[in-house]
Amino acid sequence: MTDIEDLYQEVILDHTKRPRNFREMENASCKAEGYNPLCGDKVTIYLKMEDDRVTDISFKGAGCAISTASASIMTESLKGKTRAEVESLFNTFHGLVTGEPRASQEAADLGKLAVFSGVSEYPVRVKCATLAWHTLLSSLKGSREAVSTE
Ligand code: ZN
Repeated sequence: MTDIEDLYQEVILDHTKRPRNFREMENASCKAEGYNPLCGDKVTIYLKMEDDRVTDISFKGAGCAISTASASIMTESLKGKTRAEVESLFNTFHGLVTGEPRASQEAADLGKLAVFSGVSEYPVRVKCATLAWHTLLSSLKGSREAVSTE
């Protein structure tokens, strides 16, 4: 294992043990629930939007290390972003975890989200890593349907 992979593992473990923004939000402007039946991951995303910008974001749920760390790092990464920036970041992140070559040039934009690059070697984990994102995008669209990765 390389040093960078060690570092990535450490960041993921840290967020699994101490998830950031792990709380319900009383006055959320949108909220959505997601479920990954392949792994059993469940997540609820709470979002507060003002003038098309994310002013607060939090989550609750229970799942594997990857799904929890991904939700935690996602909430940290998206505060202050506009809807368009969120969608663009998701596209880059999705490229990273599915191993699309273009993602490496854009990885610089990802910041801490880059720790999930190793997921591309484990296709079954892609759904764990993207569950929170799919749920978030559904809450942005105002969908009331629960999200399932299946
Ligand atoms: Zn999982």
